[in-house]
Amino acid sequence: MRYVSTRGQAPVLDFEGVTLTGLASDGGLYLPESWPQFSADEIRAMRGLSYPQLAARVMAPFVDGSLSPDDLLTLCEKAYGGFDHAATTPLVQLDGQHWLLELFHGPTLAFKDVALQLLGLLFERFLESAERPLTIIGATSGDTGSAAIHAVAGRDNAQIFMLHPEGRVSEIQRRQMTTISAANVHNIAIGGSFDDAQAMVKRMFADRALTDTLDIGAVNSINWARLMAQVVYYFAAALQLGAPDRKVAFSVPTGNFGDVFAGYVAAQMGLPVERLIVATNKNDILARAIRDGDYSVGESHATITPSMDIQVSSNFERLLFEANGRDAEALAAQMDGFGSSNSLALDAAQREGIAAMFSAYRATPEDTLAAMRWAHDKCGEVIDPHTAVGLHAACTATMADEIDASIPVVTLATAHPAKFPDAVKQAIGIEADLPARVGDLFALEERFETLPADYDTVRDYISAKATR
Ligand SMILES: *Cc1c(COP(=O)(O)O)cnc(C)c1O
Repeated sequence: MRYVSTRGQAPVLDFEGVTLTGLASDGGLYLPESWPQFSADEIRAMRGLSYPQLAARVMAPFVDGSLSPDDLLTLCEKAYGGFDHAATTPLVQLDGQHWLLELFHGPTLAFKDVALQLLGLLFERFLESAERPLTIIGATSGDTGSAAIHAVAGRDNAQIFMLHPEGRVSEIQRRQMTTISAANVHNIAIGGSFDDAQAMVKRMFADRALTDTLDIGAVNSINWARLMAQVVYYFAAALQLGAPDRKVAFSVPTGNFGDVFAGYVAAQMGLPVERLIVATNKNDILARAIRDGDYSVGESHATITPSMDIQVSSNFERLLFEANGRDAEALAAQMDGFGSSNSLALDAAQREGIAAMFSAYRATPEDTLAAMRWAHDKCGEVIDPHTAVGLHAACTATMADEIDASIPVVTLATAHPAKFPDAVKQAIGIEADLPARVGDLFALEERFETLPADYDTVRDYISAKATR
């Protein structure tokens, strides 16, 4: 498979290349040159496969040329062997129409483990004969950081620098990052918002002072391999609910637009997806873009769903590219304009293309708590606040008759409730206990550096600390 940049000026790469590169050199994001297709018969034949087998089947076309099918299956078995549920991503029924897809059975209790456990193994595999280590630089609103650190800690030929907004991640999220003692892990608390941290990371990828001396890689969802791994659970859920002979809708708690874009990819590959519901919190740039065509950066708000406190959603660029007929030149101009004005107006084709597949709803804190209460009181399920934002959107869509009553609606359960105990307590008065597998986070020593949101300071720190 060959991969092209959304802005058209970066070299075409193979799967190994995009996995190790992250952001394209022209500032764009990589996508496969074309979408692999599965026929209805091929999808039917996936019924009954184990999760690792399904993962290897769905991802095979994307890794073609870089990994053999057997190697891919071995990596998938290893990546998902450590999950604490035999189904890896089990489905739970809430009522006649609504389901939860539990994506939090990995080591750090959020869906990001599903992709990052595999990505850590892909890095190790592709770096076996590397001359210098891969320096992974990332920004996190909380969950990417811990999942990435757990995936990379102690691996040969890789080191990781993870930026998080100081005081804006939960204590459990911070401890999951800062208590890892491996020498190749470096945590940096930035005195600013997630968007400040993400903007600095993006700038580093284009900074010759760094890229001339370090091989820089990405673990944020700008990395194609992450999105690829997330496509699998859309297939897993839909197959259990009757695909390809029945359509399924998904509601996705959204921040950087990675998870929901993976659902779009599944649909392009032939999975019958009825609709993708983009669920946002008060940081609703995506809801405004999808409904009104207005992608303009607003003020960043801290909410009870910190992993979604994002204004600039990196992966939205991938959808804009798809929706303009893959016109890289036009997209590069549009993104340049966005870079200077912080706002972008979708053209008519983009608006129509996106409206055909996506809806968007925003949840207030009250909506979020009410959804947690409904899940608990009516369905006996304790859910985390991010999942609740998704469930609120799913129920809003079905109540508005936007989705036919015969179509199952799957809300992606993106985090374990124990990861966000304060919100759970506030909503339903229950103390959500951490599963034993995370260990005693509160007894371990923390290690991190605190730096101001100043680009040169952060870059120089990384440059000085990195092993070459
Ligand atoms: C990262 C995250 C999200 C948002 O996912 P995106 O791929 O960034 O849209 C939602 N919920 C939780 C719990 C997360 O960790």
